[in-house]
Amino acid sequence: MRFVDNSFIDLPEGWEDRADVATEALINGNIVADDRSAIWKDLKESLESLSNGRCWYCETNIPRTDNAVDHYRPKGTVKGVTLDDEGKEITRYDIAPAHSGYKWAAFKPENFRFSCQHCNEYRKDLQGTAGGKWNYFPLVEENQRAYNELDEDDEVPSLIDPCNRLEWTLLSYDKAGKPFSRFEEGTAEDVKVKYSIRLYHLDQKRLNEGRIAQWKLFLPSVKDTKKWYLKKLRGDRGAEACFQKELKKVGQWFHPRSKNTYLGYLVYQLEQDKDKDVLHPWISELIRTVG
Ligand SMILES: [Zn+2]
Repeated sequence: MRFVDNSFIDLPEGWEDRADVATEALINGNIVADDRSAIWKDLKESLESLSNGRCWYCETNIPRTDNAVDHYRPKGTVKGVTLDDEGKEITRYDIAPAHSGYKWAAFKPENFRFSCQHCNEYRKDLQGTAGGKWNYFPLVEENQRAYNELDEDDEVPSLIDPCNRLEWTLLSYDKAGKPFSRFEEGTAEDVKVKYSIRLYHLDQKRLNEGRIAQWKLFLPSVKDTKKWYLKKLRGDRGAEACFQKELKKVGQWFHPRSKNTYLGYLVYQLEQDKDKDVLHPWISELIRTVG
């Protein structure tokens, strides 16, 4: 996962009026949100363009599908869910009082996340790991749940939001590309990371292997850039130009239009580089510009 800036979503002409009418009808109980699913589906391409086709939660490239718009705050009945300390077993429960959905946010562009089906629908994969956000929206404190729009800011979601700058940096990964929590057990950060890994299905064989594969493809460029940087420091002829060329190539991996994926993992790996602050300050600079 990495930050997706959803501040500027292209809205087709008349879209906001349709959304307002639908929101009112939904709140008044005249429709269910899915009756007007065309409204959020109409924004699918605008949302998709913000990540160049990558799922905002797991960063896989999404094949063409109709169901790629997830509501961060669920549009329908919200189900309660708790996770054991290991972050593996989930227990569902009924929220009290019952919550019929964040209706005020059902047609709000800021609540839409471009998402693959592994992340937004409950499913088990072939390796038997289950995940999917579905109609869960766990909070750090359940008693702060919002039942109306004015209370929404009181909530502290237990799910990392890719549209919050820096939140994605809470995730850590081991040598096999498997995500884990680096925080003390039970802290808000620990809870957020564990719920996100479990409910977005981020610890999945295919994803973990994909992260490692991307890093292997990316690493030679980092090594070349390091080599030319050291040659530049030594004053070798032409080294500055070669360093700039290599650095540009490394930076292109993170360009919003690039088709590369698992960029959050690549940034995490760059963060772990012990040379980044002394011998190779360009790495820290790169992280700042792409992060
Ligand atoms: Zn996904």
